Amino acid sequence: MRPAERGVDVTTTFESFDRMWAELEPIGRAPETGGYRRHAWTRTDHDLREWFAAQCAARGLDLVEDRAGNQWGWWGDPDTTPGVVIGSHLDSVPDGGAFDGPLGVVSALAALDALRAAGVEPAVPVGVVSFVDEEGARFGIACAGSRIITGALHADRARALTDGDGVSMAEAWRRAGRDPRTLGPDEEALRRVGHFVELHVEQGKALAVAPDGGDDLTDPTRAVAIGTDIWPHGRWRIDLPGEANHAGTTRMADRHDAMLGLATVVQSARSYAVALGCVATVGKVDVVPGGVNAIPSHVTAWLDARGEREEAVRAAVDAVAEEAGRFGAITAEESWTPTTTFDTGLVDRLHGILPDAPLLGTGAGHDAGILATHGVPSGMLFVRNPTGVSHSPSESASVADCHHGVMALTAVVTDLCTVQDAEPTGGNG
Ligand SMILES: [Zn+2]
Repeated sequence: MRPAERGVDVTTTFESFDRMWAELEPIGRAPETGGYRRHAWTRTDHDLREWFAAQCAARGLDLVEDRAGNQWGWWGDPDTTPGVVIGSHLDSVPDGGAFDGPLGVVSALAALDALRAAGVEPAVPVGVVSFVDEEGARFGIACAGSRIITGALHADRARALTDGDGVSMAEAWRRAGRDPRTLGPDEEALRRVGHFVELHVEQGKALAVAPDGGDDLTDPTRAVAIGTDIWPHGRWRIDLPGEANHAGTTRMADRHDAMLGLATVVQSARSYAVALGCVATVGKVDVVPGGVNAIPSHVTAWLDARGEREEAVRAAVDAVAEEAGRFGAITAEESWTPTTTFDTGLVDRLHGILPDAPLLGTGAGHDAGILATHGVPSGMLFVRNPTGVSHSPSESASVADCHHGVMALTAVVTDLCTVQDAEPTGGNG
């Protein structure tokens, strides 16, 4: 038992985690796929927000919403001293898994319960956050909630973003009973955060694969990892022109088929990514007019590209854009996030608290990365995922590993809220 776990009632903590997990499980689950459709500012999102608010109320936390609609539950007054914040997000990609996001929020609430049950008296406030619209599933920009408050996503641009039905974020806010004019940067909310630690399911198999290359799903020292950095990543929109015509009466020689350009985009994204050692995906396309018997007059494709090295990602995207350009396509960058290195002082400290935990970089973006880039000392913990699959209903984590995650987070928050910095952490702003 680690010193920080002393006094923690493990059984009650795990029961608290299991109960919350069971409550969340049915919300937004599509019966036909078993996947989750928890998209920002929808009815389902509303239900999740209410659930989080109820959890805060049940614990006597002060619930504060910032200017992007992120929910913060505070124990103690963060306007007197910046606090330690733990949490993640509750929204999902279309047909997403159960763990991406909710694992961090539920673990944070359970860790707070454990901390209190152990009688820990924090020297600084402790907060639990639920970020809004992390996946960008509806309006296309990932980490919208944290990008809006840090100003990384301009308020006017955010309000004008539209979903697949042409509904703008501003309109979605109005329908959710909110005033979109209040949306914008929120330094006050950010000033309250002394440290932020986001626990997240691992979105790969690094922890599930033992050093000898075989599967290792039982080694407790590989249940949780400490995040070190987030790969550079971005999203691009590629618009391919064509000419609509009849699929039966138009000679092949007379066609101007936007779909042909798409085929090249998809193929070249793969081949350049492989050649340059990064990853690239065309996971979303929009075809106009979208009829089986109509030649496409316009195709919009979205390219997601990431990798360890920025130059490689840039080179791959440039090459795909050039190939697409031969079909008259225009490629526009929708978002770009350079390499994010988590606060080195905080990473060292997490390593001191969890000496067995491996260190891990990740190809997925997170709110913790957006806050780190803004200069908020931030870090991450990853929980082992046996399948390595994410953004799919097959995403998983064992109950035992989820409980390991809660204990790790409890140890971290206990240390951060009781032991003050011996020296300033290395900022990364
Ligand atoms: Zn996530």
